[in-house]
Amino acid sequence: MNPIGLLIEFKDGRVKEANFGLATAARGKNRQLIALVVDASAGDARRALEAFGVTRIVNITTGSRRWDPAIRAAAVVAAMEQFEISSLVGLTSPAGRELLPRIAARLDAALVMDCIELDLDGRRVKTSQYSGKTMATIALTGSHFIYGMGVNAVAPLQCQVTAEIIDFAFEGNPDPGYRVIETRTDSSGTQYLAESDVIISGGRGLKNAENFNLLIACAGHINNASVGASRVAVDNGWVPYAMQVGQTGVKVNPKVYLAAGISGSIQHVAGMKTAKTIIAINTDENAAIMANCDYFAVGDLFEILPELEKALAAVRRP
Ligand SMILES: Cc1cc2nc3c(=O)[nH]c(=O)nc-3n(C[C@H](O)[C@H](O)[C@H](O)COP(=O)(O)OP(=O)(O)OC[C@H]3O[C@@H](n4cnc5c(N)ncnc54)[C@H](O)[C@@H]3O)c2cc1C
Repeated sequence: MNPIGLLIEFKDGRVKEANFGLATAARGKNRQLIALVVDASAGDARRALEAFGVTRIVNITTGSRRWDPAIRAAAVVAAMEQFEISSLVGLTSPAGRELLPRIAARLDAALVMDCIELDLDGRRVKTSQYSGKTMATIALTGSHFIYGMGVNAVAPLQCQVTAEIIDFAFEGNPDPGYRVIETRTDSSGTQYLAESDVIISGGRGLKNAENFNLLIACAGHINNASVGASRVAVDNGWVPYAMQVGQTGVKVNPKVYLAAGISGSIQHVAGMKTAKTIIAINTDENAAIMANCDYFAVGDLFEILPELEKALAAVRRP
């Protein structure tokens, strides 16, 4: 089998943790992994990638001074051709959503995003469909295959190897077909929700934007925790869209998902039901979320969350 390509993402110059689950899923029993690193420091990434079974790192440079998905996609495709990579696995992250479809279009390749299981030998993947009502197994055909794994869908397992770094300078200058006029950063911060281990979300029950501080205070005591929201909270302007969990928001697979004042509509549950542990706080013991959670606290979130915050602070205190 040809080597499997991994499209590596970085944050603050370091390989994102989410890539390690990606490498684990792609490696299987003993596949050869080639990491594709674009305009980042392959040397710094080497040790992290070697720990997860990557034997070759292609250090792609584009010469572009800004993050341009058209140039990056063209550069990745050129490297895939050079190193005979027919299967590429990346993250279904904001960057992955920009790049993977562009790469697939250039190669006329089959593409599936938000995969939760991969069978690279059988070219089959599992992904949820119809708002999470069904789990589909999709068989890919063709000559090239692009897989977007759900972030945190697979737990990382170490496999120490040594890797060589190969430089690859991309000199093409594709016409992107668009012009960037302005780039804005929203107020949700730089943490992509799906990369969090713990997500504490709020819905209509929070009543206003200010009350989201109750959730932020709790999350502040937990490592790698973020605050999410239902669509009602986003549509009401309480929090930015980047925080929306669900069918039309972000799909998340955290270790723990806490839903406060969220009823558990099918569209919300579609985005979080694969969380390892789901906890709900709701005044209504018959709320739909009851059927989709592991722990359920019947009560007023305005009483429970301050107590939870105190308890988390006490555990955190040395
Ligand atoms: C095409 C489509 C796509 C959609 N996509 C999404 C999506 O991506 N994400 C999403 O979230 N929704 C989505 N929706 C909207 C979805 O159908 C629901 O309307 C929404 O999820 C409800 O949000 P909620 O649970 O915050 O509000 P509600 O359904 O109104 O629930 C509020 C809950 O808070 C509880 N509550 C109230 N006060 C308190 C309190 N003091 N303490 C504890 N509990 C309290 C109530 O008992 C209730 O259960 C979509 C809808 C459509 C049609």
